[in-house]
Amino acid sequence: MLVAKTKENLKECQCRHCPSYTLGCKIKNYPVNAIKMLEDLDNIEHFEGMFCAFEKSHCIDEDRGCLCETCPVYAKYDLTREEYCMKTGGTLSHKCVSGFDETAVQH
Ligand code: SF4
Ligand code: SF4
Repeated sequence: MLVAKTKENLKECQCRHCPSYTLGCKIKNYPVNAIKMLEDLDNIEHFEGMFCAFEKSHCIDEDRGCLCETCPVYAKYDLTREEYCMKTGGTLSHKCVSGFDETAVQH
């Protein structure tokens, strides 16, 4: 199921608390994100946050941990992947069993 690009979901997104979302990326993206927050998120192609609804990050490039599994959006949409900032559609959860089709991108 596609994650809806809503402000309600964005509020619940844990990415801003995540160690992978570095302070440098937060400072760099704050002004652009703030402007986009004033618009209808549904019409926005890229946003530096809620990466399960948008594409991967243009800034985060190192895995320092992922909070997706603790996120209400993750539960609401029954997501099974993680690190949506590193790869559009997410990467396999470390908890997944082997043999899962890595090419099957889930949103
Ligand atoms: S997708 Fe996961 S790893 Fe990336 S910033 Fe969000 S919580 Fe952190
Ligand atoms: S599942 Fe991850 S990327 Fe999606 S809203 Fe939650 S913390 Fe953000």
